[in-house]
Amino acid sequence: MTGDYKDILKNANPDPVLKLIARTAVGRELLERFLPLLKRGQVRIDAYPAAIVAKLREVIPAGQPIGACLVTEGAKGTIFLDYTSPIGVLAPFLVHEIAHALEPKVWAGQTAKSQTALLDAESEAFQTQFRFTQELRERDPAYDEFLKTNYPKAKLLHSLLEFDDIEELYGRRSA
Ligand SMILES: [Zn+2]
Repeated sequence: MTGDYKDILKNANPDPVLKLIARTAVGRELLERFLPLLKRGQVRIDAYPAAIVAKLREVIPAGQPIGACLVTEGAKGTIFLDYTSPIGVLAPFLVHEIAHALEPKVWAGQTAKSQTALLDAESEAFQTQFRFTQELRERDPAYDEFLKTNYPKAKLLHSLLEFDDIEELYGRRSA
């Protein structure tokens, strides 16, 4: 099981990522609420178009993985993943976006209009992401090792972001 974290998925099939998420209590609680949305097609999980990955690569520092994102359009949404990242990185990013997808304020468009609502939603999603990685790291030392060796600079994966970090991160990327 331990080698799995490094695996790169060849086809854009999120199932192995969802399975990894389901190995934690935090993840199972999220999936219980999220899988119905996925099943009825309210939310899709898709690969980023290659052109977007190229653009993101220009602005994201080397060694930093490209995060996931949830794009909503009316009552439907798509979570984009960068499938060139290993599964051990995709899982916490997907957890983060699932937390967003379960947040009614995101669907009501409040996070797009209000900076406070956005920061609240981000803080919430980062906390859920952090609880997931903590649980997996505590349960499996190989995951702890994986994150330390592969992404020593990936702050998002390592520590719970402070409010200021979130503001800085999104202030810079507000477009
Ligand atoms: Zn977010």
